[in-house]
Amino acid sequence: MRAAVSLACLAAALAATACDRPTSTSTSTSTPTAPAYPVVVALVIDQEAAWIAAERWPLLPADGGLARLLREGTYVRDLRYAHSATDTAPGHSALYTGAPPRTSGIWGNEVLDPVAHTKVSILRDDETKLVWTGAPPAWVGSSTKVLQVDTVADRFRAAHPDAFIVSISIKDRGAIFAGGRKPTASLWWDKELDQFVTSTAFAPSFPAWADAQAVPGAVRAKPWTLLDADWVKAHAATPDDQLGEGELGGMPITFPHDVAHAPSPTSAFRGSPFADDAVLGLGLAALDAEHAGERPTLLALSLSGNDYVGHAYGPDSWEAWDELRRLDASLGRFFAALDTRYGSSGWSAVLSGDHGVTTMPEVANGIPAARPWCRPDAGPDPWGRACGNAGRLMPDELGAELRAVAAKAVPGEHAALVMGVIDPYVYFTPEGRALAGAPAAALRKALTAAILAHPEVARVIDTRALPASCPPESDESIDALVCRAFVPGRSGDLYVLTRPGSFFDPDVVPGKGTSHGTPYLFDRAVPLVARAPGKVPAGRVVREPMSFRAFARTLSSLLGVEPPDPEAANASDLTRLH
Ligand SMILES: [Zn+2]
Repeated sequence: MRAAVSLACLAAALAATACDRPTSTSTSTSTPTAPAYPVVVALVIDQEAAWIAAERWPLLPADGGLARLLREGTYVRDLRYAHSATDTAPGHSALYTGAPPRTSGIWGNEVLDPVAHTKVSILRDDETKLVWTGAPPAWVGSSTKVLQVDTVADRFRAAHPDAFIVSISIKDRGAIFAGGRKPTASLWWDKELDQFVTSTAFAPSFPAWADAQAVPGAVRAKPWTLLDADWVKAHAATPDDQLGEGELGGMPITFPHDVAHAPSPTSAFRGSPFADDAVLGLGLAALDAEHAGERPTLLALSLSGNDYVGHAYGPDSWEAWDELRRLDASLGRFFAALDTRYGSSGWSAVLSGDHGVTTMPEVANGIPAARPWCRPDAGPDPWGRACGNAGRLMPDELGAELRAVAAKAVPGEHAALVMGVIDPYVYFTPEGRALAGAPAAALRKALTAAILAHPEVARVIDTRALPASCPPESDESIDALVCRAFVPGRSGDLYVLTRPGSFFDPDVVPGKGTSHGTPYLFDRAVPLVARAPGKVPAGRVVREPMSFRAFARTLSSLLGVEPPDPEAANASDLTRLH
């Protein structure tokens, strides 16, 4: 039980609540000497847009984690993905492989189960089982089976069979690409179990150092309140009870959010700063685990709380501002904890985002102050943010509509032709795909017309018409971005491109909140920061756009390995900037 208490305390300490000093291998008060092997922390803030970082990070206090990273590292303002469909799994896989979805095989977060036609994780693997601390539930687990390329962690494992590689996230897609195929541990939180779990793909049993239940319980013991109410009120352009915000977990949309006592505490938890504190706390516990401090180390954390907060309440909400403020403070304490273990020059960090986000429709359409880039004197917006009306496309409703359209367009006795809609594709059934000649053309024509009748839609792209090989990355046209997002034989049949500011409803709180997933820069550009004393220039800002491959390139250099993707080998390396 002692390990469980210590772990909960680590997480609670990050949340700045009272707690006994955690058990740690680093109890010495003397300054630790830097280890002779690499200790690299890779952080992905889920849904951290380049525009958010550029406009809001400068407003954060000097003693926070992000200000420290900017002082001590190099900041790339405009790291660009080369794919449309800017979602979590494509983003994380691109960061950790240096390859776009077309090459990696990771084209979306979820796929349709071919039998049940329900949404399942793209990483779900029927040959694996979930692993957790309780009795085995025999639930299906996740793996890297669908991933077609190597990850940075795979290269690191090959170079250092004894390396300590731990990845942790609230989502399987946030952890698995970072940990690669042979992690020491790859852990994610399961909403039904309310525990951290892994899969038989990675470990036969749950690691002894990680108490799966203690951390979520400890960090959400107190309600979520504003850390700095004056700061939030000074910067948020909307009221706390803004129209369009979602009642996450059944909670009211205003502060305080009593997460532990919400009608659905697990939904409320994952959309709160507590989720990120749980991941950071488990990360520190991993570093203190047996033998972790004596070998080449990669600790990769994906902070998903930020994403669920953004989805439910929108990026302009009090919740989003407080999430950033709290995450920044937690990162500051996390980096201080790394100093304690390795000395400030003994660890490196890279930090990025997996995609951006767009303004919530009710705010976009109703609060002019929230869109200063739309003022007549504002000039062109560097992030391509929208000024027109915005809206949500409801995937299940669209799917039902399209099934009816298909039945009408191709009369006669046949099975359903449309399987369903998952952002950003319409998927046909095998019968729909098998159609040829005039019926096939009639089907696509009728579906395209029906989709285009929705005001949120800009274009419908027939994926059969995409070229066999995609244009070079310098081509940032919509067609090129869609081409690099598409995986032949696996992605869907019609690609639905929404207008800037509109999006597929993310189903976090149905019909509420906001999302991402489009090829526009507000969704496609993210920040990159690398901090490595003596290796990466301190206090440097790169304003020019840079390829997403710089993340894998730089992380590989810090770990002393070659990047997995050949094109990433040619990408910018923040350890070699001139
Ligand atoms: Zn994400």
